[in-house]
Amino acid sequence: MFKRLLIANRGEIACRIMRSCRRLGVETVAVHSSADVTSRHVAEADYSVAIGEASASDSYLRADRIIAAALASGAQAIHPGYGFLSEKLDLIDACQANGITFVGPNRRAINTMGSKIESKRMARAAGVLCVPGYDEDDQSPQRLLDEAQRIGFPLLIKASGGGGGKGMRRVNGAADFLTLLALARREALASFGDERVLLEKYIVNPRHLEVQLMGDRLGGLVHLFERECSIQRRFQKVIEEAPANHLPTAVANSLYESALRIGRAMNYDNAGTVEFVLDADQGDRPYFLEVNTRLQVEHAVTEMTTGIDLVEWQLRSACGEPLPMKQDAITRQGWSIECRLNAEEPEHDYRASLGPLLGYAEPARLAGVRIDSGLHAQSEVTPHYDSMLAKVIGFGHSRTQAIGHVRAGLEQLRIEGVRTNGALLLQILRLPAFDEVLTTRFLEQHFPDGPHAEVDVRRQHVLAVAAAWAASQVVAAPVWSALRGMRLTAPAGHGARIELRMRDVSAASDNEAVRLLSADGGYELFGAPGLRAAAKLGTDGCVVRLTQTGQDTVSVHVRRSEQQRWFSWAQGRSMVWDVEHELEHSLHAGSAESREAHLSATLPGCISEVMLQAGQRVVAGDPVLTLEAMKLYHTLAAPLTGLVQKVHVTVGDIVSHGQLLVEFEPQAVDTAAQ
Ligand code: ADP
Ligand code: ADP
Ligand code: MG
Repeated sequence: MFKRLLIANRGEIACRIMRSCRRLGVETVAVHSSADVTSRHVAEADYSVAIGEASASDSYLRADRIIAAALASGAQAIHPGYGFLSEKLDLIDACQANGITFVGPNRRAINTMGSKIESKRMARAAGVLCVPGYDEDDQSPQRLLDEAQRIGFPLLIKASGGGGGKGMRRVNGAADFLTLLALARREALASFGDERVLLEKYIVNPRHLEVQLMGDRLGGLVHLFERECSIQRRFQKVIEEAPANHLPTAVANSLYESALRIGRAMNYDNAGTVEFVLDADQGDRPYFLEVNTRLQVEHAVTEMTTGIDLVEWQLRSACGEPLPMKQDAITRQGWSIECRLNAEEPEHDYRASLGPLLGYAEPARLAGVRIDSGLHAQSEVTPHYDSMLAKVIGFGHSRTQAIGHVRAGLEQLRIEGVRTNGALLLQILRLPAFDEVLTTRFLEQHFPDGPHAEVDVRRQHVLAVAAAWAASQVVAAPVWSALRGMRLTAPAGHGARIELRMRDVSAASDNEAVRLLSADGGYELFGAPGLRAAAKLGTDGCVVRLTQTGQDTVSVHVRRSEQQRWFSWAQGRSMVWDVEHELEHSLHAGSAESREAHLSATLPGCISEVMLQAGQRVVAGDPVLTLEAMKLYHTLAAPLTGLVQKVHVTVGDIVSHGQLLVEFEPQAVDTAAQ
């Protein structure tokens, strides 16, 4: 085994590779750009070397600097991870010229598979069915148009050198073909330095299935079963699993056989993946797509179901060792599902979410959950690299159990300050359709506009931020000390009624309003009938526990940034708020008064619903009546626990601001939050 390995990558995959190295006693060398000086992968490595500026083309894509770093640090081998230089000839050539081992397959395999045109020809020669299309040398527009008409529409124009879901265009009819061809060509040249394209019939209901291969340098080659990666957005994978659900054994076996045939034809000698699309409308016909000559993002689901450490096998193979196991000894158990957690806002057309993290915590000892992450509490998400922050992997005996575990992982991995697709991932996993046959159209069919609105969840965040705001007034702990102004704790017998107006910074929606009533050193929140909030200031911000009768308690983490913005995080969802407050009333001496034994109109409007009658018992926070103003409905809640004494209004009444609506008789002091 190597003594020291350089990892020519960053983020979660660099950290993942180091984990195997530590177990195997291999020393690690990280490389980093100027934007990654304090990154987790640098912190976790034994040694680190700066290789250039933030932009990838000045750092992680510079084979010359990576080789220099390996020579300077005494690394004997380089693991390229995925993306960046992993499938480029530059790095493997530079390694060979400098006597450094490249952890990957042979040069010829990388070269052939780097071109989708070459790889399809090779697969066909090996007797594997390919997506019908055109992959000949004649690239004249007229020939391509003729071929397109022969293939039929819709079809895909693919850049031969493309990858990572980039360089593909769907063409729906002959009229658009030449225009889109010209565009595709320009893009292919600019992004991949190769303007050749191939054409493929567009499979209308495709499933993405792939087979993990592993080879050694002594001629050994095995497959490690299939993965399904049909949950995709714009040709990029979002959720992957092993095994594939609803896949007939005969089809699975034919996938393994095809993959092995391709692997043998290339003398494949490291980790690689053979990708297929399966036409869900014609169940048993897998078509070859391409081979990725590297470790794949989703390799973890294969590891969790086979018990094999693929990075270890890659290193052993690169050292010239034989594969640790023969095909017959490799078995698979249970189920594993992986979710890619990205710094993006699916609510807003998947725009990027950037900036420093305000909090980060991985769940400790969660059964059946593995988290592969490149983050730590000091991380900052910059625009220079791709948006994947971490992978949450669940595993269990059954698919249902794996889903439960990956959900728990997503709900408990706490990323504050930067927004992620966590809520969307959770919604996908909860959808009944996720248990049916999956196709790559799943997201556009079920989530055409991003995640479904979750009113309750939003309301929970609003209340939690309000409770934290209130706590910040009551407890002048240093973490909150920047907030000045009125204090909520008034001397006994005094109090205040305050309206908080909260704006979700990343949405154009209406402000949320929450009323706060303080009295006798405590406070109560009104705004969500039946919900109680209890805020506790900790060393790590503020944790608000929300309880609602008959439902689970929800904990929301809230903290304020230096810019006076409020960040809330709960169950995979992170939100950002601007909070304004307005003093509505100062309550004067007289203890009964201070607990406000009456409810007045907070704004002028029309009474649209009255939920209570005189004599009824109420609990503070119960809905009492609804007021309609400016086409919006505002529910007013009981300010205290007690009896309804008198209701002064009926449905249809027009009331003015401050008008007395309901009188109460307090019973038993109740502080909902302290
Ligand atoms: P996988 O097939 O392993 O799931 P993807 O195809 O999603 O991986 O790509 C993995 C990573 O590599 C992504 O960060 C992607 O942006 C990057 N990537 C893959 N191929 C290329 C390529 N040819 N050029 C640039 N980036 C690529
Ligand atoms: P990349 O190198 O970018 O990963 P692939 O050829 O592997 O390119 O295709 C990426 C994804 O695009 C596939 O997973 C699949 O969802 C979709 N795709 C590719 N080819 C086709 C096709 N012929 N018909 C329908 N979908 C396709
Ligand atoms: Mg692919």
